[in-house]
Amino acid sequence: MPVGTAGTVKAMTADAVRATGAKLVLGNTYHLMLRPGAERVARLGGLRAFMDWHGPVLTDSGGFQVMSLAGLRRLDQDGVTFRSHLDGSEHRLTPERSIEIQRLLGATISMVLDECTPFPATETETQASMQLSLRWAQRSKAAFTVREGFALFGIVQGGVFPALRGESAGGLTAIGFDGYAIGGLAVGEGQEKMFEVVEHTVPLLPAGQPRYLMGVGTPDDLIGAVARGVDMFDCVIPTRAGRTARAYTSEGIFNLRNARFGEDARPLDPACDCPGCARHSRAYLHHLFRCSEMLGPMLLTWHNLHYYQALMRGLRAAIIEGRLGAHAEMLRAAWHVGEAE
Ligand SMILES: [Zn+2]
Repeated sequence: MPVGTAGTVKAMTADAVRATGAKLVLGNTYHLMLRPGAERVARLGGLRAFMDWHGPVLTDSGGFQVMSLAGLRRLDQDGVTFRSHLDGSEHRLTPERSIEIQRLLGATISMVLDECTPFPATETETQASMQLSLRWAQRSKAAFTVREGFALFGIVQGGVFPALRGESAGGLTAIGFDGYAIGGLAVGEGQEKMFEVVEHTVPLLPAGQPRYLMGVGTPDDLIGAVARGVDMFDCVIPTRAGRTARAYTSEGIFNLRNARFGEDARPLDPACDCPGCARHSRAYLHHLFRCSEMLGPMLLTWHNLHYYQALMRGLRAAIIEGRLGAHAEMLRAAWHVGEAE
């Protein structure tokens, strides 16, 4: 999922996002509830009409962003009170209000409100946090209006402790959700630990329902998590990197600000057919970033999203054809071509 934080995938028109092959975009409850406000979005026809995205939209619960407002938030058993990073105004998010906001936004897939357990945390702290999330998941489910074509996902917490992940997955599947996310990862535990948790958690989730690893990741993270059974991802990496001249390509990561691209007439990624690669040279992209022209971030965001979508399509095809291992090995080997140059 490309991330459309404030009702836009930054630097991209909705048509451009569609052209990358993306089928589902993510919207952020926290940002949209503060500006322009969930009720206003509802009066304007919902998020999908508002942003000209007529496919499905997944919204997060707002929990992750609120929890990261250290010092500006107060957590209790019922919910969380926080101050807006925009104007300091006080707001309250409970499982019921989060689900209501996501319904007002018109989210196709809503997420339960949870506490993203800070890392590092002791086993006792992680257990209390996970159990709070489990109670909130139950309340989120009760608040969610079941309707045709709309889904609610639960979120497995439990930090890096296998027993706690097991308890969380068991509790959530007993409540019953349309899909299951693995939360609380990519928060500083490192890739090896993240893969360990994913490997332990995935088999505890129903095989026939989507599994979503939240906030992940680099192309290498995606390949490793797909190999361990994950279906869905969201991450700001392709869009954020695109705005800072970093390109993810079939030949590895390039920084287009680098002087070595000054007279490089080749396309950024010969294997890519996005507009940036099909019509422009590395030298031109380099020039755009050197001059701080806004077309640079636009073209590179488009390219990165195109690359991520193509990566996922390739992995899907490889799974279907039973050659995921070989395909992953080939992708990883090719990343060193560009760097070795
Ligand atoms: Zn491209």
